[in-house]
Amino acid sequence: MKLILLGAPGAGKGTQAEIFSKRLNIPTISTGNILRAAMKNGTPVGLQAREYVESGKLVPDAVVIGIVQERLAEPDCADGYILDGMPRTIPQAEALESCGIEIDCALSIEVSDDVIIERMSGRRTCPDCGASFHVRSNPPKQDGVCDLCGAALTIRADDAPETVRARLATYHQETEPLKAFYAARGKLKTVDNQPTIEATTAEIARALGL
Ligand code: AMP
Repeated sequence: MKLILLGAPGAGKGTQAEIFSKRLNIPTISTGNILRAAMKNGTPVGLQAREYVESGKLVPDAVVIGIVQERLAEPDCADGYILDGMPRTIPQAEALESCGIEIDCALSIEVSDDVIIERMSGRRTCPDCGASFHVRSNPPKQDGVCDLCGAALTIRADDAPETVRARLATYHQETEPLKAFYAARGKLKTVDNQPTIEATTAEIARALGL
């Protein structure tokens, strides 16, 4: 199974990718996670990406395409993978095609902008272990402290409300046209975000015929 997850930032792609990665026993390739790790480690890619990621802009296509081509060549991708957060532009989708990559399905998780803004304004992230909380729907046991490692929780720089709005505008302009791109190839499936993670998982499983 070669699956692409589409959807606005905060739609739950990462959460669902992890669930289906375990269920299907294939890796998730999250360009956001790869870029954040590169930034944390101060690699040349990380240094190049920082100003884009922190201001909510897309990292240039050439950088992302290079990262993904390298990752997909690793042996654990031989039986399939889930792409989370890539492609995000038509040129990225065309680059996948011109590498001979034929995906089985592009699945879009549909969520309104209002729900996204509410969700992301409450997200709190542990800078040390990466755990994610939400002030209302998934609060830590002690306010502002990571349940897992005890570090002080922070707001991801790109989760600040004005940056979320910029990311949503970029999503509608650059990424949403990918739905028509994959629909034209008979590969698009859409599911509506549900009130719980489990219910959204069930909808995706149904759409994929699992
Ligand atoms: P995410 O964790 O998927 O929300 O990604 C966080 C940030 O990483 C995005 O706002 C972009 O700045 C950058 N990024 C991740 N994936 C891509 C991509 N495929 N193309 C360009 N930029 C990306």
